[in-house]
Order: sequence, then C-alpha cells, then structure tokens
Amino acid sequence: MKRIPLFEEKLPATPLYRSREDYGTNEVYFKRDDLLPFSFGGNKVRKAQKFYREIVEKQADHIVTYGSSSSNHCRIISNMATALGIDCHIISPLENAHETANSRIIRKLGATVEYCPVEKVKETIDNRMELLGKKGNPYFIMGGGHGNPGTEGYLDAYRELLMQEEEMGIRFDYIFHASGTGATQAGLVTGQLLEGRQDQRIVGISIARTKEAGGKVVCESIKGYLEELTKRQVLDISARDTLIKQIEDKVIFTDQYRLNGYGDYHEEIVRTIDEVESREGMAMDTTYVGKAFWGMKQYLSEEGIRGKRILFWHTGGTPLYFRA
Ligand SMILES: *Cc1c(COP(=O)(O)O)cnc(C)c1O
Repeated sequence: MKRIPLFEEKLPATPLYRSREDYGTNEVYFKRDDLLPFSFGGNKVRKAQKFYREIVEKQADHIVTYGSSSSNHCRIISNMATALGIDCHIISPLENAHETANSRIIRKLGATVEYCPVEKVKETIDNRMELLGKKGNPYFIMGGGHGNPGTEGYLDAYRELLMQEEEMGIRFDYIFHASGTGATQAGLVTGQLLEGRQDQRIVGISIARTKEAGGKVVCESIKGYLEELTKRQVLDISARDTLIKQIEDKVIFTDQYRLNGYGDYHEEIVRTIDEVESREGMAMDTTYVGKAFWGMKQYLSEEGIRGKRILFWHTGGTPLYFRA
C-alpha cells in the first residue's frame, strides 16, 4: 500500500487571522480549514486523516462510503483512495444525483458510484460490504466521516486553536461553524470539555437537520468518544461521567438558519457570500459555509451579542463555490 506523507504526521496548522471588518461591535476572526493542503481542503481532510491511520493499519484494499453528489467527504475519500492506490466505492442517493464540481472530481479520480433510492441505502451498503468482503478487505466510512475518528480530527483541531490563541494572546468568546453530521461540533466541544474551558460558546449552525435530531447526534457523538477514551484508559470512569453530565449544556446547535434544508439558499446568502469575497478574498459555498456565515450574522444580531471576540471556522467546500 502506498502512503500519504501529509497524513502520516500532524497536519499543518491552518491560518487564523482577523477579518477586515468588525460585525457590529464584535471582532471576527477566520480559521481557514478550507486551506488544508489535500484535495481542495476542508474539514473532511482532518477526519480523513484519522480514518487513514486505521485503513493503513488494517491493510484495507477498498474504501466504501456514502454521500450525495455534492458531498465534500466523498471527494476527499476518493482522492485518499487513489493516493493510497486502492479502490473507492461510493453509495449515493438517487434523489440527489445532480452534477456538481465534487461529483466531477470524484468521477475523474476513478471512484465507483453506485446509486440507490435513499430508503435502500443501508441495504445497499451491507450488500456491497459483504460482496467485497468475500474477495478482500473493505473498510467502511460513514457518510460525512462520522464516528469516533472524525470526532478526534476536530479534537486535534481544537487543541491547534488553543495553541494559536496562546500565540496571539487572545481568547475567543464564541466559535461558529457549519454543522451537518455533527462530528466537527462533537470534536470541538469534546476539546472544550477536556480542557475545562468555561468562558466560550461553540455554536453549530445547522445546514439541514432540526435542532432536536442534529443536537442529539452531536451529544451522542461526544458521549461515544468519551467512552472510547475510557476504553483506551486515558480517561477514568468518574472523570468521564462528570464530563458526560456537562454535554447538553455545551452543545448549541441552532436550526434557525437552515431554511428548507440541505442545499437550500436564498438571495441574502448569495449577497453575503459576494460581500465577503470582495472584502476578504475568501470564497464560500451556499450549502455549508455561506449559509453558516449568514446564519452567524443573524445570530449575532438576534441574540444582541456585542463587544465579543468571535471565531468563524471555515470548514471548506471550495469546489461547491463553482455552482454547477
Ligand atoms: C461536511 C461539512 C460540514 C459539516 O461537518 P459535520 O462534521 O458533518 O457536521 C461543514 N462544512 C463543510 C464545507 C462540509 O463539507
């Protein structure tokens, strides 16, 4: 199996700097995970690195994963598979089978895309895993890179942020980011819990799920990861249980800005994206990051937040800027 040197070590810290514009009386800073140097970057690179370790350890000969045709996760995973010299098989819902820059990249990289109706997804995945398992050693990654490795990618990212805060001599009162399957938020909040950071709120702006459904998944992911830390004997049971009690208070997952769900946007989001682009030279897509940034602006004014230091975590999605 070939190796990917970038994924063998700690990923380079992504740029963090102050925006040219204040928002109300708030200082806004950007953390640019869209600039992670692999396949157009984004949060799925941090997650993929954690899956990479397991894939190499287990000597897998196939990666199987799931996602729509606009999935950034599927782009990164199919690129990782070609770089490793192994095959990639993507199960994709028929309902969302329109062409995007991501689906073009995925096809070019040689991944096999198998479409099925959304209600047949689980069955299709199980069948494919069984078939591939008879001939070889497939490795399955949940949609969006969900699961403990994905959470751990953002626990590392939170620690990277702590170092940068220290270097810059600042502390962020708020962190905002686009929240989907919840692993990014789970990792960041896990970092906050483990570091005992009480003076900061992390706000996940839902791009699709309701507050109830999405928030629950974030909470469960954190709990699942803390339990794994106990299994690995890095967190004792009483410390774990103390942290588990704090999870619900820490998870702020708002569905106020998801509009009609995944991929939906309106003109105000497009206007926000254009403004930020012309001012900052930073691109955002409408499905994830543009929606979240617009949502953050609304949140700041609706909640009357003033005089704070705010971090907006850019989670990537660059190819989707070029809407098909
Ligand atoms: C996947 C994705 C998200 C959401 O991340 P989750 O960990 O699934 O919550 C946010 N932004 C971009 C650009 C993404 O690709």
